Amino acid sequence: MGKTSKDKRDIYYRRAKEEGWRARSAFKLLQIDNECHILDGVNKAVDLCAAPGSWSQVLSRRLNENYKKELEAGNGIPPKIVAVDLQAMAPLEGVIQIQGDITNINTAKQIIAQFDNEQADLVVCDGAPDVTGLHDMDIYIQGSLLMAALNITTHILREGGTFVAKIFRAKDVDLLYAKLKIFFPYVYCTKPRSSRNSSIEAFVVCKDYSPPNGYTPHMLNPLLTHEAYNSSELEGINRVIVPFVVCGDLSQPDSDTCYPLDFEGKEYTYHDPVQTPIAPPYEEALALLENRDTDFRRSDVSVVVDNMNSMTI
Ligand code: SAM
Repeated sequence: MGKTSKDKRDIYYRRAKEEGWRARSAFKLLQIDNECHILDGVNKAVDLCAAPGSWSQVLSRRLNENYKKELEAGNGIPPKIVAVDLQAMAPLEGVIQIQGDITNINTAKQIIAQFDNEQADLVVCDGAPDVTGLHDMDIYIQGSLLMAALNITTHILREGGTFVAKIFRAKDVDLLYAKLKIFFPYVYCTKPRSSRNSSIEAFVVCKDYSPPNGYTPHMLNPLLTHEAYNSSELEGINRVIVPFVVCGDLSQPDSDTCYPLDFEGKEYTYHDPVQTPIAPPYEEALALLENRDTDFRRSDVSVVVDNMNSMTI
């Protein structure tokens, strides 16, 4: 393949190099902004899954322009951009970088720590897993990245702020939209021209962050933490309790109680199981037990068989 063949095939790849963007993805964010005005007036932004950094470049350019306008109006504060990725990223002036996994609680805490006394106007996430080729698995992992990004967002985004994230438009995408709608009244799905038609990727633009009344962001989401989940720490709207229904009234036997064999007032008669296992896992052990030449100890085999027989389904 010639040096120029990719340039011929992909105009956005070519343009990215010409215009100094680190990746062709820059055009996706620029085109989303043209349509949805997500960068207007933004001063503090977080770029999740940012490497190699073209979205951070776009953010840096636009936030500095916003800053200049504010200075001209006499009240500007320097912009803040935090970029996060699993992979190391070459430095970008004015961009704070964190290397880590956004689904890991420690990374999430590092990002949140950057916004100790302040809040972000915008969180973007272009996260995509390394494609495994197992379609359903790739979609599931991408959805998990989106949920991890949303959870971090609930800690740092100001009310009224915007969240933009890559989403795979696949079978159960409605479930993801429904989760986003809990936090944002406006949820759009966009497909920039620079995103290939052959790709299932699209972008959700979620505006006007409005968490439910009484919602407190927390890190007890099992997706983000390996720490023990203590649901009693969650109260009010933060704790979802679903109805628990016991089937069968008190006259039914309790499955954890031992009853005498004549408990039901009838004389006890043993019955064989209706269907014995066709290929029980202990078959091999039984065969070894029968084999007198083996040095396998009889007592070892009986223990294994006893254990397996006592397993309940
Ligand atoms: N927006 C970027 C740009 O314009 O340069 C391109 C992002 S690239 C499409 C997707 C990125 O997601 C990769 O750099 C990858 O390392 C990152 N990623 C995937 N899973 C991640 C995770 N769990 N935590 C952090 N980053 C992740």
